[in-house]
Amino acid sequence: MAKKEKKTRNSAMDRAFQRTKVLTDHLLQSPPSSSFQTPSLSSNACLNYSPPELSEKYAFDINDMRKLMDGHDLEERDRLFGMITQSKVFNPRVRGGKVFVSPDYNQSMEQQREMTWKRIEYLFERGVFEGWLTGEGEEIEMRRFACFEVLGLFDHSISIKLGVHFFLWGGAIQFFGTKHHHDKWLRDTENYLIKGCFAMTELGHGSNVRGIETITTYDSNTGEFVINTPCESAQKYWIGGAANHATHTIVFSQLNINGTNQGVHALIAQIRDADGNVRPNIRIADCGHKIGLNGVDNGRIWFDNVRVPRENLLNSVADVSPDGKYLSAIKDPDQRFAAFLAPLTAGRVNIAVNAVYQSKVGLAIAIRYALTRRAFSLKPKEPEVLLLDYPSHQRRLLPLLAKTFAMSFGANYLKMLYVKRTPQSNKIIHVVSSSFKATFTWSNMQILQECREACGGQGLKTENRVGHLKAEHDVQSTFEGDNNILMLQVSKALFAEYMAAQKPNKAFKGLGLEHMNKPCPVIPSQLTTTTLRCSQFQIDALCLRERDLLNRFVAEVSQCQAKGESKEHAFIMSYQLAEDLGKAFSDRTILQTFVEAEATLAAGSLKDVLGLLRSLYALNCLEDGAYLRYGYLSVENAATVRREITKICSELRPHALALVSSFGIPDAYLSPIAFNWIDANSWSSAQH
Ligand SMILES: Cc1cc2nc3c(=O)[nH]c(=O)nc-3n(C[C@H](O)[C@H](O)[C@H](O)COP(=O)(O)OP(=O)(O)OC[C@H]3O[C@@H](n4cnc5c(N)ncnc54)[C@H](O)[C@@H]3O)c2cc1C
Repeated sequence: MAKKEKKTRNSAMDRAFQRTKVLTDHLLQSPPSSSFQTPSLSSNACLNYSPPELSEKYAFDINDMRKLMDGHDLEERDRLFGMITQSKVFNPRVRGGKVFVSPDYNQSMEQQREMTWKRIEYLFERGVFEGWLTGEGEEIEMRRFACFEVLGLFDHSISIKLGVHFFLWGGAIQFFGTKHHHDKWLRDTENYLIKGCFAMTELGHGSNVRGIETITTYDSNTGEFVINTPCESAQKYWIGGAANHATHTIVFSQLNINGTNQGVHALIAQIRDADGNVRPNIRIADCGHKIGLNGVDNGRIWFDNVRVPRENLLNSVADVSPDGKYLSAIKDPDQRFAAFLAPLTAGRVNIAVNAVYQSKVGLAIAIRYALTRRAFSLKPKEPEVLLLDYPSHQRRLLPLLAKTFAMSFGANYLKMLYVKRTPQSNKIIHVVSSSFKATFTWSNMQILQECREACGGQGLKTENRVGHLKAEHDVQSTFEGDNNILMLQVSKALFAEYMAAQKPNKAFKGLGLEHMNKPCPVIPSQLTTTTLRCSQFQIDALCLRERDLLNRFVAEVSQCQAKGESKEHAFIMSYQLAEDLGKAFSDRTILQTFVEAEATLAAGSLKDVLGLLRSLYALNCLEDGAYLRYGYLSVENAATVRREITKICSELRPHALALVSSFGIPDAYLSPIAFNWIDANSWSSAQH
């Protein structure tokens, strides 16, 4: 009890200190240069920046909220934030009396790549990557995720460049390889004695990995595999790290043994020597300038009879004996391929989680700006209205804020699912990571666009980050599995669960589908505020949609099959229901993670605010077209939901600053418009 009181006192002191500091900074600001002012145009006519901390109150402890949201490794995160802001390599700049860090996106593609590499060297020298591949256990994996979250807040390129080396190259060795691969490659990878990349995609085949055309044969005379790019469409494409730095790659190819194609397998090949010269029989070209992510050197690779030792085949599910016999316990090539790729999910988990942090940056900037930017007076001579006091502005930003909190809890759940993985949980990790990756990255784009517009013209300035983050993160919906394809896979997995549950003595079990075993929830004919804000009603409403869409999807696919069409054809034809179902699964799973996080809290202001956020998230889901299209909500109830959303937005408005402050993102990772944007744009600032 005494400990708790002390903690509350400390955090109250923290807050008091923070407010005093903001106030002092505000008062000590140098007065605006008077050279262009005349006495008649005195300060009344000029806008004054007033920090939002002076007018907004914190009704809950933002440190407690941060703990709940970040979930783990807070000290490690803060250490890394500090390490970045202290170094010139991370391009610190002073604007409006504050230091900001972010890459200089005006640099050429080559310069951006060089800077990404320098930053990695800086972090490596300070031991940031220690244990990332050689360490074992949940703790180190969670710490690694936390570091990626922090680095991603600085720049997408650095996080992707590291992700390719550690999650794709390193992960492939960990999960597709066996002990001798681990012994030979993991430590050298962690120590950057080699630089790895991951060559799966080709010009002709991206989503359809099984269609790739690179061919590998085996020469039993020398005990070597021979890798070939047989045609232009087989060139490896988009390979992160290949254009400039990588020394080694994982090559995916069709493995042809004694004239039989055994399907897609992965091998290790060296593509550059230690001095960075491209190896014989390898050709590498650049993918060129991209709309974002130019700090990553994406390249193309051709293999011309490249020979690698037999041991370089990553042999977790299949091997080739020295005399050239193909050996695998899994006979079915489809199952073999699925078993092979299944464990490599860390990259996808990381991208999903990273997208949520980008949304936090966008919202923190847009909401802070909306708390200091005024536009139009309601009456003559009255002060202009703060942007966030317009109900329309609240309606634009606050549901997205609620969604970001919801996704944050979803992200924490996904990370735990991943670090606690077992061979049995591979399926659930695949389904949840696919649906969350698609949902979070799509939402991130939507959120950043809304935030960009909410900042008006200032949102267009690169230094203000929000607009530029869109270009930097757009690719998230394409790599690590195209979002549309991932969502189709989710629906197919739900279809399979449905079919399995139809067998005698079977029921739905796992993926949160147990609600399908219970009677169908009923939505009251007249919805009230109390019902709409009740978590059980919200879960029921989301389960109802998922259940109905799954029933419809199964019925439509089955009808198509009954007409003699293949299951694949039937899936393709039912794509609309498949898309709706994937979304319904994702929304419901996210809401459940929210409710579970909320349940860990004692009654109090933090829980109350979270309740508002949860209701706003859930009711926003009820605005999905499916609710009216399939009649889950009457027209009247749909209108009631809409009114309730507006009400909750106005109730959340006083908490907006506290909520974005609880993201725990240091000021340096936001942008000038989040602070004193008048000072940052003053004449004297322009002189520096
Ligand atoms: C910057 C960047 C970095 C990358 N890094 C790497 C890397 O390091 N290593 C690597 O191996 N790959 C990498 N990739 C490749 C990436 O994984 C692929 O781009 C991705 O898998 C999509 O493949 P694709 O580009 O060929 O698109 P396609 O597969 O051609 O898809 C194009 C469009 O068609 C749609 N589509 C395709 N099939 C279907 C279907 N069956 N039904 C309905 N719609 C469909 C898709 O939804 C998509 O919208 C990277 C890509 C980029 C852009």
